[in-house]
Amino acid sequence: MFSLNEVSSLAGRIQFRTETLTGIRCRISTERVKRALDRPPVMNNSPGDCPFCPGKITAETPVFPDGSRIIVGESVTFPNLFPFSEHHTVTVITSDHFASNKITEKQIADALTGQYLSLKGFPWCYPSINWNNLPSAGASIVHPHMQAIADNAPTYLAGRYIEESRRYFLKTGEVYYDNLISLETDSERFLFGDEISWIANAVPVGEREVRGYLPVHSIDEFEPYIDVLAKGLHRVITLYKSIGNYAFNAAIYFDRCGTDRGFRSFCSVIARINPNPMSMSDTAFMERLHMEPVILTLPEDLGRYYREFCE
Ligand SMILES: [Zn+2]
Repeated sequence: MFSLNEVSSLAGRIQFRTETLTGIRCRISTERVKRALDRPPVMNNSPGDCPFCPGKITAETPVFPDGSRIIVGESVTFPNLFPFSEHHTVTVITSDHFASNKITEKQIADALTGQYLSLKGFPWCYPSINWNNLPSAGASIVHPHMQAIADNAPTYLAGRYIEESRRYFLKTGEVYYDNLISLETDSERFLFGDEISWIANAVPVGEREVRGYLPVHSIDEFEPYIDVLAKGLHRVITLYKSIGNYAFNAAIYFDRCGTDRGFRSFCSVIARINPNPMSMSDTAFMERLHMEPVILTLPEDLGRYYREFCE
């Protein structure tokens, strides 16, 4: 499912990996981890004027056209005040402003349900559920929240997978993800899971990328898997914390509703640099301008670490 070339440099070996399905590439230089940028997080612990805190949330966040917000457990879902998508909603996950590093499975499941409910009314759209945890992962508000987006066209990366999965299906008559999961389950990259398989992605698009593959293609099939997905996502976050990664991004991609075209929804999670006083970021020209991320951790090492310390 991927190809690998290795070259020697003056300071160690570099792997160039290419995902066969999409042609997506990354390079892995494990030497770069020695720069020791992975310091403990510097947390901004002041709620200040946070609009997501209890007391402010009902006064400062918008409502849906019928005047409502979606409440599931502790989570509150409402339209994004500053949307970049035709349908763009925000789900505040916890009432606690400081909860970003102690979110429970139940809180994740409730928030995912709120996101699902805010997305399911647009079956002709390509939805995704997204989460920037902490400012160094791009969150503009520290208070934990997810964002659902849905448009008439998929985002670039989701579109690549939807299109190439369809092509693979037409060519082989097989679902790419079934073949991927059966191969990866026997690899050193497999982490855990049965209904949803969680695997350290062989060609990571971000540091320590883990993907959880769902047995569904569209949002209207998603609800029965919310609890098991929340459990798995919580386990990945726990794995990250045990390594020292507190900041992360997550995205769950869906095809539009209707005919199964060979795509399977998956949740991608990547570790990000912890909040730090220098405002240093782990995203630079290779990641954003070349779409060819430089990775420090071998996916096989992440699999080994999980089995040794987290199983
Ligand atoms: Zn807050």
